[in-house]
Amino acid sequence: MSTYTAPLKDMQFAIKELAGLPEITALPGCSEVNAELVDAVLGEAARFAQEVLDPLNRDGDKQGAKLAGGNVTTPKGFKEAYRKFIEAGWNGLGAQPEYGGQGLPHLVSVPVQEIWKSANMALCLAPMLTGGVLEALKVHASPEQMKTYGGKLTAGVWSGTMNLTEPQAGSDLSAVRTRAVREGDHYRIQGTKIFITWGEHDMTENIVHLVLARTPDAPEGVKGISLFIVPKFLPRPDGTPGERNDIKCVSIEHKLGIHGSPTCVLAYGDNGGAVGTLVGEENRGLEYMFTMMNHARLSVGVEGVAVGERAYQHAVEYARTRVQGREIGQKSGDRVTIIHHPDVRRMLMSMRSQTEAMRALAYFAAATLDKSKHHPDPAEKRRNQALLDLLTPIVKGWCTEQGVDVASTGIQVHGGMGFIEETGATQYLRDARITTIYEGTTGIQAGDLVGRKVGFEKGATALAVIEGMRALDSRLAAGGQDLAATRAGLKEAVASLDGATHWIVDTFPKNPKGVAGVSVPYLKLFGTVAGGWMMARAALIAQEKLKQPDADRDFLQGKLATARFYAEHELPRAAPFAREVTSGADSVLALDPSKF
Ligand SMILES: Cc1cc2nc3c(=O)[nH]c(=O)nc-3n(C[C@H](O)[C@H](O)[C@H](O)COP(=O)(O)OP(=O)(O)OC[C@H]3O[C@@H](n4cnc5c(N)ncnc54)[C@H](O)[C@@H]3O)c2cc1C
Repeated sequence: MSTYTAPLKDMQFAIKELAGLPEITALPGCSEVNAELVDAVLGEAARFAQEVLDPLNRDGDKQGAKLAGGNVTTPKGFKEAYRKFIEAGWNGLGAQPEYGGQGLPHLVSVPVQEIWKSANMALCLAPMLTGGVLEALKVHASPEQMKTYGGKLTAGVWSGTMNLTEPQAGSDLSAVRTRAVREGDHYRIQGTKIFITWGEHDMTENIVHLVLARTPDAPEGVKGISLFIVPKFLPRPDGTPGERNDIKCVSIEHKLGIHGSPTCVLAYGDNGGAVGTLVGEENRGLEYMFTMMNHARLSVGVEGVAVGERAYQHAVEYARTRVQGREIGQKSGDRVTIIHHPDVRRMLMSMRSQTEAMRALAYFAAATLDKSKHHPDPAEKRRNQALLDLLTPIVKGWCTEQGVDVASTGIQVHGGMGFIEETGATQYLRDARITTIYEGTTGIQAGDLVGRKVGFEKGATALAVIEGMRALDSRLAAGGQDLAATRAGLKEAVASLDGATHWIVDTFPKNPKGVAGVSVPYLKLFGTVAGGWMMARAALIAQEKLKQPDADRDFLQGKLATARFYAEHELPRAAPFAREVTSGADSVLALDPSKF
């Protein structure tokens, strides 16, 4: 069975060279971070993931979480691994120092998340959600609420969840019906939430639910939703967990993947109402929850990278050992391992280059997030916020769709053995499959991209990004023959993205339905080209570094090779995507819903 090894060299390259670590360490509030610290953190995270989390991944998938009498038991070893995780301080890596966190920039915490998700995605959803809850509370909660919950959540002794979904309210949160009735200084919550990740479990002494609910006189729709903190155990004045709140886990889902992560149906208020406290002001809950959701969307995008990497490593290992056939052109002699067959090499190159492109884009978005928070120049701060807003649905939507694709190719590399559970390749595809659904489906991300992020602002940020991509051309031209294919691929793909973006900008005001119909191909187009942009930048940097006498030649030649492969095999998909966008809207809507 293959084991996970964190791809530290590629991660360090993406952090330092592509996402621009020096720029981030120069920001106010990030000055304690330096390259050596980043290397040390990544190295330790890799060791922890390889020794503690990865060995539980497969058994966690086989055993799954179990519910009995309202209590959820996690797979064998999860509780102990989580305890080690929080004792080592990993939970508070990106959290505020005043609550015991280490306050490291996203450009460090996001790569560390990739390591956790590669090693054990199901288990590491718990700390991811806790991080999201902290992110939302930090911005919107009162000092008293932070005093009660900030330290416990940062330490990870209490975990956090997000409670949005109800049977009738999935993508459309305006349909949320859970009720919150004021009672003195708190509210009584009643309703049913479904699909709540880590909604009940045995790994922490308390669980802090962030719950969307409506007060009785709230306006209809999204403007009438408020946000509440509803803990499993009500905290005593001394901060320890006290009386059990009126929340019950009534079932957990039997699902395709992430079996180790309990996905819970939670009943609130069967015995009079669960006690909750309001976050911020009434009726602004969805706005507050978006702080958490944007955080979580980037993290889920990173799951695409993480599963892609894990599937790639598994496939390489299999391809190195499976003997089948002879090299092309040889009729006798030894049979060879399948890694010698050109088509298997194509699949492995495709998995590797896609994963490298996703990683580079996700880390670039993490650095953009850091700049949007800490840049001292208000104009730069705003520019980075707009860029982050554009990149978030792309990282979420594109990286997760690619993650599924890479995991599926991983199965293909295994042949029939890939379809068999024993090999382990299926788990990556099963686990990856949820990533395009939760935290807003790809369709929802794409709608956000073409509407709020491109249509409404008449393409201002998108076209500025495209200009940045174009600006690379002269530098690629100076790179000579080594970069010729990368340059040609990027140039053509950028032209396709530019054309499709102008089409979206022009068509959105007059035909928003048509634009919505081709929004997913546009999202895929943007992701594909943005990935190619990152790969071309990587190739330029690699070429420059190869001039140094002590250069890591194997690694840097590898970067040139994957950039070229991406340009020749992935970027040619841009033109058909653009054609689909600019000429496919009418046929999407050609049949009336009654005709299906
Ligand atoms: C394993 C798992 C874990 C989850 N964890 C959590 C959690 O921790 N907390 C939580 O609150 N929720 C959680 N969810 C819920 C998840 O976020 C929702 O499933 C998701 O948002 C989609 O909602 P839905 O399932 O109701 O699908 P629907 O909204 O019914 O969507 C069905 C289809 O219609 C499309 N669609 C719907 N509306 C539109 C639209 N306006 N435009 C275009 N297409 C549209 C969707 O893209 C999709 O293809 C989880 C779900 C699962 C399966």
